[in-house]
Amino acid sequence: MSGSLTAPPPERGLFCNRTLNMRAIKAIGYDMDYTLIHYRVEAWEQRAYEHMRQRLESLGWPVGHLRFDPQLSMRGLIIDTEKGNLLKANRFGFVKKALHGTHAMDFDAQRREYARTIVDLAEPRWVFLNTLFSLSEGCIYAQLVDLLDAGRLPGPMGYGDLYEHVRRSLDATHMEGALKAEIVGDPERYVLSEPETALALVDQKNAGKKLLLITNSEWAYTLPMMHAAFDPYLTGGMTWRELFDVVIVSARKPEFFTTRANLFEVVTTPGQEGLLRPHRGPLKPGVPYFGGSASEVEHSLGMSGDEILYVGDHMFGDVHVTKNVLRWRTALVLRELEDEVRAITAFRTTEALLAERMVDKERLEAEACQVRLELQRNKQGYGPRTEQPEELLHARLAELQLQLRTLDTERSPLARAASELSNPIWGVLTRAGNDKSHLARQVERYADIYTSRVSNFLYATPFVYLRSPRGSLPHDPSLPGGTPVFPPASAGEGESSGP
Ligand code: IMP
Ligand code: MG
Repeated sequence: MSGSLTAPPPERGLFCNRTLNMRAIKAIGYDMDYTLIHYRVEAWEQRAYEHMRQRLESLGWPVGHLRFDPQLSMRGLIIDTEKGNLLKANRFGFVKKALHGTHAMDFDAQRREYARTIVDLAEPRWVFLNTLFSLSEGCIYAQLVDLLDAGRLPGPMGYGDLYEHVRRSLDATHMEGALKAEIVGDPERYVLSEPETALALVDQKNAGKKLLLITNSEWAYTLPMMHAAFDPYLTGGMTWRELFDVVIVSARKPEFFTTRANLFEVVTTPGQEGLLRPHRGPLKPGVPYFGGSASEVEHSLGMSGDEILYVGDHMFGDVHVTKNVLRWRTALVLRELEDEVRAITAFRTTEALLAERMVDKERLEAEACQVRLELQRNKQGYGPRTEQPEELLHARLAELQLQLRTLDTERSPLARAASELSNPIWGVLTRAGNDKSHLARQVERYADIYTSRVSNFLYATPFVYLRSPRGSLPHDPSLPGGTPVFPPASAGEGESSGP
């Protein structure tokens, strides 16, 4: 291969849901937090959690003993604010796993609660954990539900009121400067350095693309963070300020994509740094703006939706609305993907064994169904039959049931290990049982491409033509799930029952 770039490891790929020709993209918009800049999630969320906990303690709540548990929640889970539960749902919105407070609900309790419920995120009852900033929120809510159930929180208070308290204290934690001051004061502790991101963006700029920064973070935070993340890795006297053609802070996404808010210029002259001045007309490069709207950006650039790619980590605010309302091309950054791909790869041998056992199980079940039907027809005297003696049929059925039980005993530790991959409570992000998770469904609906970090664009180059794979369906003959179970293959002959 010519050129200096080697192929990325599998977990650093750009994964494509809908074909995207990067050469047709004229502008690339970037979100900042958890997109251009990645935090050490545990360190950041631990501090955010601590700020929230202290706020609640100052209200007199008995939360002194609570500690952040990074595994209790994860992105893509759903809070049921009516029942005080944390859920994982599959792509249809069926609940596949639930905790009440911090305790796993058993199968019957879960079925009683959710057998007839479909999670619809448009309803206010459900809160989707959209980003890595949501881990502290999910964790503290679950722990507070335990305290509420134990009658230790001031009342009267329901699970919904409790969620409102958590939301208010999380908003305040992010918006009042103390937490951000800690991050700015010690970036090495909280920020993962990523020198390759700067080069990936320089490549894009030199390939003729306009680069936009559109962040909900305020100017006072954006300035030091972008300086620390980019300036050490840019050459030729360039700083992050020249790298971007448009800079918008305090953007108020998702409203930024749907409504028109006033646009202000952020004053950067020393002594007046951070003051706001109303702005009209085209956006000037090098000037940071506050607020405004996506349609103003389109107008100023003279570009339409499908010429702009927006890259962000917030499932709803960065990707869902952008795609639904503006039809911009979208890329979702899912940092967790790297661990997930590695975990799935390491599990491949066990996964293959599990799949083999499933084929055995389906074969035994199919034969048991046939024997049952034969017994039924014998008893009621109708339909074609093999005329085997009834005792033989009963004996065969008992034998098959025994084999099935043995097989289940063998399969269950493997299946449990599969369900605990990546996170011992929730398993992997993108799957729920055998199916895609609710998060995975949203990724495929709203993100044209997804990847673990922005620097993965470096490997792909600004000229890449990303093609979506041919989608699979259960009836595809090549898929194991598409193998018809009838007629059953004869046991032990290794005969293929599919075409
Ligand atoms: P962006 O990802 O670059 O658009 O920036 C996200 C901004 O939103 C950061 O400044 C976060 O501190 C802030 N943020 C994240 N989660 C919350 C929240 O739940 N409430 C208020 N602000 C938040
Ligand atoms: Mg973000």
